Amino acid sequence: MLPLVYHPGYSPPFPVKHRFVMRKFELLMRWVSENGYVGQNNVFTPTSAKYEDLIQVHHKDYLGALAAGPRFNPDWKAVGLPWSRALIDRTFISPNGTYLATKLAMQYGVACHLAGGTHHAFADRASGFCMLNDLAFAAVKLVNEGKKVLIIDLDVHQGDGTAAILASVPEAVVCSVHCVDNFPFEKQHSDYDIELPAGDGDEHYLAVLETVLANVLFDVDPDVVIYDAGVDVYQGDRLGKLNLSLAGIMKRDCMVLEACQALQIPVSTVIGGGYDHDHFALAARHGIIVQAAHSIFVK
Ligand SMILES: [Zn+2]
Repeated sequence: MLPLVYHPGYSPPFPVKHRFVMRKFELLMRWVSENGYVGQNNVFTPTSAKYEDLIQVHHKDYLGALAAGPRFNPDWKAVGLPWSRALIDRTFISPNGTYLATKLAMQYGVACHLAGGTHHAFADRASGFCMLNDLAFAAVKLVNEGKKVLIIDLDVHQGDGTAAILASVPEAVVCSVHCVDNFPFEKQHSDYDIELPAGDGDEHYLAVLETVLANVLFDVDPDVVIYDAGVDVYQGDRLGKLNLSLAGIMKRDCMVLEACQALQIPVSTVIGGGYDHDHFALAARHGIIVQAAHSIFVK
């Protein structure tokens, strides 16, 4: 079985022409369903994250300001998204979705969260469409349960918020492979940072990744992996600067999942970034990770 984690509130009403495609979660769920990945009992619905867990990774005043609404300007500008209560509600659910997917992965080998990857959120501030850091949230919760966690972040942008939050958590290790010439322009230090030049394509990217995966999985020897499968590495992405093809993204995702499977390390996935005027094509692109997980773990 391939567990999927999704909440019907993930795509709240939102300006259609905005650079951030809020519809993509709902469209991805539709794509996943239409392509036969939804069965009788493999979709799991997360609840809102608890304050007592959120406070482990985010500052109290910041959480209060987020919950209070748009009055916490000027910080709202850093989010880059128009405020709505429904947006805040889904923001507080998604971190628990990544945690739930990771718990399911520990049970079933793999699980896909059809959202998540808000890796620019810092402990005390929003950045780049990200308010709460689901990766750090899930990792810290698992570390508190005695697990060693490896985050493999292959979104085209560096997960600066994740790196900063987890810098003081040695049992949560962050490996980021990203484009050096892209947002965020002030990079943080992850445990492993692999910087690729703009324009890098399938061949070099996949060769680098193969080496990185072998080294990092061996060095860290984690109990569980959380994989950010951002598709903004795609050659046609509006905000990415790498040059991966769709086949290249499929190979990338399979490489990560197969490496985890070979070492019997449970792996959960989040969808991360992806930007396109064609919302349906974008949803299908985010579907690649589900397709890859199904082909490797379910067949
Ligand atoms: Zn990104």
